[in-house]
Amino acid sequence: MKTHARVVIIGGGMMGVGLLYHLTKEGWSDVVLCDKGELTSGSTWHAAGLIPHFIASLNMAKIHHHGIGLYQSLEAETGQATGWHGCGAIRLAINQEQADWCRGVQGMLAYVGAECHIIGPEQIRRLHPLLDTKGVVLGAWTPGDGHTDPASTCNAMAIGARNGGAEIYRHNRVLEIQRRPNGEWAVVTEQGTIVCEHAVNAAGCYADRVGAMVGLKVPFVNMIHQYLVTESMAPVQALEKELPVVRDPYASCYYRQERDGIIVGPYETSGAQPWALDGVDWGFDMELLPPDIDRLTPWLERAMERIPAFAEAGIKRVVNGPITHTPDGTFLLGPAPAMENFWMCCCASIGITQGAGAGKYLAQWMVHGQTEINMLEFDPRRFGEWAVGDYSVSKAVDEYQQMYQTPLPGEGRDVGRPIKKTPIYERQAEQGAEFIDVFGWERARWFAPAGRTEEHSFRRNNTFETVGAECRAVREAVGVLDLTPFAKYEVSGPDARAFLDRLCANRLPRRDGGITLTQMLTELGGIESEATVTRFAEDRYYLLSAAVAELHDLDWLTQHAGAAQPIEIRNVTADYGVIVLAGPRSRELLARLTDADLGNPAFPWLRAKEIDVAGIPTRALRISYVGELGWELHHPIGEMAGLYEKVLEAGADLGIKPFGAYALNSLRMEKAYRAWGAELTTEVTPIEAGLGRFVDLDKDFIGRDAVVERKRRGGMPVLVYLEVDAADADVLGNEAVYVDEKPVGITTGGAYGHTVGKSLAFAYVPPEHAGPGSELEIAILGERRGARVISEPAYDPDNARLRA
Ligand SMILES: Cc1cc2nc3c(=O)[nH]c(=O)nc-3n(C[C@H](O)[C@H](O)[C@H](O)COP(=O)(O)OP(=O)(O)OC[C@H]3O[C@@H](n4cnc5c(N)ncnc54)[C@H](O)[C@@H]3O)c2cc1C
Repeated sequence: MKTHARVVIIGGGMMGVGLLYHLTKEGWSDVVLCDKGELTSGSTWHAAGLIPHFIASLNMAKIHHHGIGLYQSLEAETGQATGWHGCGAIRLAINQEQADWCRGVQGMLAYVGAECHIIGPEQIRRLHPLLDTKGVVLGAWTPGDGHTDPASTCNAMAIGARNGGAEIYRHNRVLEIQRRPNGEWAVVTEQGTIVCEHAVNAAGCYADRVGAMVGLKVPFVNMIHQYLVTESMAPVQALEKELPVVRDPYASCYYRQERDGIIVGPYETSGAQPWALDGVDWGFDMELLPPDIDRLTPWLERAMERIPAFAEAGIKRVVNGPITHTPDGTFLLGPAPAMENFWMCCCASIGITQGAGAGKYLAQWMVHGQTEINMLEFDPRRFGEWAVGDYSVSKAVDEYQQMYQTPLPGEGRDVGRPIKKTPIYERQAEQGAEFIDVFGWERARWFAPAGRTEEHSFRRNNTFETVGAECRAVREAVGVLDLTPFAKYEVSGPDARAFLDRLCANRLPRRDGGITLTQMLTELGGIESEATVTRFAEDRYYLLSAAVAELHDLDWLTQHAGAAQPIEIRNVTADYGVIVLAGPRSRELLARLTDADLGNPAFPWLRAKEIDVAGIPTRALRISYVGELGWELHHPIGEMAGLYEKVLEAGADLGIKPFGAYALNSLRMEKAYRAWGAELTTEVTPIEAGLGRFVDLDKDFIGRDAVVERKRRGGMPVLVYLEVDAADADVLGNEAVYVDEKPVGITTGGAYGHTVGKSLAFAYVPPEHAGPGSELEIAILGERRGARVISEPAYDPDNARLRA
């Protein structure tokens, strides 16, 4: 066994082996993997092997698509058959919301390059003669899907990895992991110690125990999942062609053919069971849990309605095993929080499908520092310690139970919440707020009229008029918003300026009180982060970024500062409450609470001052994400409840109204303001994102050379701002953009602009379609809608309102 390697992967299931294989493809051959048993001996060997394309997330769809392609080509590469069956799959929709969802996913898959057709009940029955289609509205038919043999597929990737120089040490449990003073990891195994630059937790249902070796708490739960394999069935024997896989929200089950019988796998919609909450015993190797089919009766009965022949079939085998589930159902893929070069590649709930694609993009991240796709939704740092424990259990159980239901926009499910409340949470609830959770924080989506609650839909719904009124209050009077969840950092010390200058693509503020919006880039020029930087003194800066970026950006700052530089970086997110005042009457309101001069000469746009507001020491920042005169009031969080009351009181006769995230999105779309994580991701540089004016190429900063090169070369898809001929549904993001029947681009976000009376969207499209006036089509819930590129913000393009 090697004593030194560049990478040690702990765990030889589909996720770990998928990574090992792709690291060799990215050019790293000094990579090893340890498994405490045989490869696949965790959850991988007994999985049902279904490999679907149908998934709501664009980035996850790319991951699935890669796996499906690879599992079909591995045999030719490695000589090891994978057991691939290209039988296709149908996702059933049994109501209109699900039908809308299927149509939306179809458009997105077209962009990814995966074939998907919307078909009616008759065609569904033709493809799957055993199905009763009662109650079925339509199906999404993905002919490129199939199922694979998990163990053979995993072994084929292992052969490919070995061919690329990787080594695999089986029956070799990792016992402990130590950090060396030089930053390397010492991975202590049963067969000796391996010193490495990168260590990877791919330990499946042991991810918590391996995480604990480095002091990490991993937010996931092992859920018990069972499927039944029937005896041979005469109607299956009589078939001339293999049945497609079917996913059925009515029974919450999947069905696939297995020889002359079928497999039926229910995801219980209630009473689902977590397992081994205190950690799995190390001896659980190639093992299953005892069958417990009585528990599945309600779902099996529905499965029998759907496939009447199943009611007559004998049961040959029940497979019961643990599946890892995170609170949001998506695996952990990327750097562990606050731990340089310790990576997570675990907690996948459909890891047979995802192992290859997850491995591909994690390998890119490790080798190049950046990936071709946006990894934000997979980044382990989207959870903090707040997510571990009861929250993880209740969320993961709920996620499992919702596996075959349709996630509706804005439907932040209530279980496990609230976790983090700002001091005005209860007051906002009294005002009618319905909340969504972001990085554990509760944020108001909208303020519902008494007795109303949102009727979630992919189309405009009962929030539409009220959100319009919230927007009008901001544009015509004054709106108030709670932005406390924003990530906040103080960066100080003699080298603070030079340090930030190197990280930020934009010029830093030249004088005290100056504010700059800036992107921070990877070496390859991708947008890693976006921050508002306020200079309080040459050696004292205040940085704000997105709520979900709190741990991500903290790592970016601290890991670039290193130990050597005399810089202090403090995460002060929880120390400050933030109340936003926005609208033409915000100055009048604020003047009632402070003696500070708020006039333009003394307090212009993009200026910050430390002032007293209602007697509370406040950092007042004159910035606005909604494009109006306004201030962000950052104050000690303990004072927030009192300050909010004072603000409401002072604004009562000025028409003050609270507004939520829906209004915020509509207002920012009218101003064509980009959002980090949607329009701004590591996939693009500021050049493609149309933010060239925020880049100071006259200075040296991380990613500068790559930006210069991109600018010179051109040709990449660029961001366009669109006016959309929408009907009753606006762009939500991830809709395919068409030119001449070809999917050429993808939307990143959109909303109805209530002030301008237009439906608006952002999309990335090839540069030849990006000119002002270019005509495009967007597939919104399956319907093509015309869209036109517009060259300037739909609202106040000259920023007169901001400077008012
Ligand atoms: C009944 C059932 C059916 C399923 N069907 C499907 C399906 O149809 N499609 C699909 O995509 N997914 C399916 N899944 C889910 C899928 O099986 C998992 O998501 C996937 O196997 C996870 O892979 P993994 O590599 O993360 O974990 P695992 O396969 O569990 O691998 C983790 C490995 O880490 C090793 N390990 C742990 N700790 C250490 C240590 N300290 N030292 C060394 N090695 C260690 C273990 O021995 C194990 O081999 C199913 C799951 C179940 C239970």
